[in-house]
Amino acid sequence: MGQKIINSIDHYTQYKNRCGWDLLLPEYRPRKILCDDISADVLIIGAGYTGIAAAKKWREICPNDRIAIIDASVSGENNSGRNSGFLLEVSLANDADAEQINRMKECNLLIEKSAQKIFNEVKDSAIDCQIHRAGTYRAAASELGKKSLRDYEKFLKKSGLEYDRLNKDQLDEKLGTNYYSEGLYNPHCYLAQPAALIRALIDKLPKSIDLYENTPALSIKQDKKSWLIITPKASIRSKKVVIANNAFCAKLGFMRSYISPIYTYAAITEPLQENELFTLGTETNWGILPAHRLGSTLRLTIDGRLMIRSLYDYGYERNNVDASMLLKQSLKLRFPQLTNINFESVWGGTTGFTYNGGPIWGEIENNIHISAGCNGGGIVKGTLFGELLAMSANQLKVPEIKKLFGSASRMPPEPFRKIGFKLISMIESKRVKKEI
Ligand SMILES: Cc1cc2nc3c(=O)[nH]c(=O)nc-3n(C[C@H](O)[C@H](O)[C@H](O)COP(=O)(O)OP(=O)(O)OC[C@H]3O[C@@H](n4cnc5c(N)ncnc54)[C@H](O)[C@@H]3O)c2cc1C
Repeated sequence: MGQKIINSIDHYTQYKNRCGWDLLLPEYRPRKILCDDISADVLIIGAGYTGIAAAKKWREICPNDRIAIIDASVSGENNSGRNSGFLLEVSLANDADAEQINRMKECNLLIEKSAQKIFNEVKDSAIDCQIHRAGTYRAAASELGKKSLRDYEKFLKKSGLEYDRLNKDQLDEKLGTNYYSEGLYNPHCYLAQPAALIRALIDKLPKSIDLYENTPALSIKQDKKSWLIITPKASIRSKKVVIANNAFCAKLGFMRSYISPIYTYAAITEPLQENELFTLGTETNWGILPAHRLGSTLRLTIDGRLMIRSLYDYGYERNNVDASMLLKQSLKLRFPQLTNINFESVWGGTTGFTYNGGPIWGEIENNIHISAGCNGGGIVKGTLFGELLAMSANQLKVPEIKKLFGSASRMPPEPFRKIGFKLISMIESKRVKKEI
């Protein structure tokens, strides 16, 4: 009676396949499942980069608060372990805007500090995240891709950020592929093993913060002056709630008109043989980001594996046979010299997609704070936004997120949204086929 039920359904991430990065690590002993009712000053939903950063910052600001975190999955297998491991120190290519350079410089400064903070936090961790400031290549194979590269170059130049332009032969020499006709290299990026990275960040959580894994939030309702969060075995009563479950916040009933989960897929090979590695150019640990947003991301890892990430699906995870076949095709096109490509793992992950790429950030209900909508680049940005959210929820002054990073715009309702996404990605995919 008198309660406001925001939602109550069963939605959270349950992937079809285990995360390939996580499978390379020693077996993980999950944190406990929440089995008894508890109360907290703040409950954080989602133990990814955003949620973990918010929790740590909250502890710094309010040393005596009872802080609890719940996650539907476990560290390393969760979405934060499933990505390609690029920690960009500068704005993503899609966000970069050479026309608004002062604003972009301010964004870059914030992002750079967050990237450094992550690096400093994990560099001596007992969990080896293979983190290196290896920089990143951006490479284009199509005319549209080349145009995007030129726009990004304009942004780098105006921002005063160092970079090198590379032609086809130089790319071939360094990376062992003559697939791309142009590229840019800039040093403003760390590469890491993402499942190890999120494990290491979670490992550094202060002991006084309770993290419950395999504990999805099923519903949230307002109950007098607090919020009641129901999980499968127990409930949590909390004064404040931080929603940090990214693509799935809408499934809990928040910001439905602003965000959708988009699935994308990655695969990692077995370690390559010496003679194969010999054909892969002079660089031994590199990452290539696509020139177009629908293109493929690639890496050569420190332990001599190739990783590829590509393909997008709206709201569902495709089967592995299909993903594996298409990812292999893309890899073979780039490295025809590798006659026998064997994937050790193929897996899917989600990104929280917003129509204009702007984030969802701030207080959206009384004492409900949210940071979501990573748009495929949230290791560093998620960390930054998580920290700033904890600060603003505790009335501390923070940079103006909306002014600096924008905010998510409203999307059409279903089924028009899904149809629109499919149509646009079909048309764009044809135009940038060579980047995929
Ligand atoms: C294949 C792939 C490659 C990518 N590559 C990169 C990259 O190279 N660099 C980069 O910066 N970004 C990359 N991204 C995006 C990056 O993974 C995300 O931006 C980042 O993980 C966002 O962090 P987050 O904490 O905001 O959200 P998430 O990592 O999505 O974490 C949300 C957490 O919430 C949990 N959760 C969901 N629902 C519930 C619920 N109901 N109750 C409790 N918990 C719940 C999930 O288990 C998850 O742990 C990639 C993404 C994918 C899928």
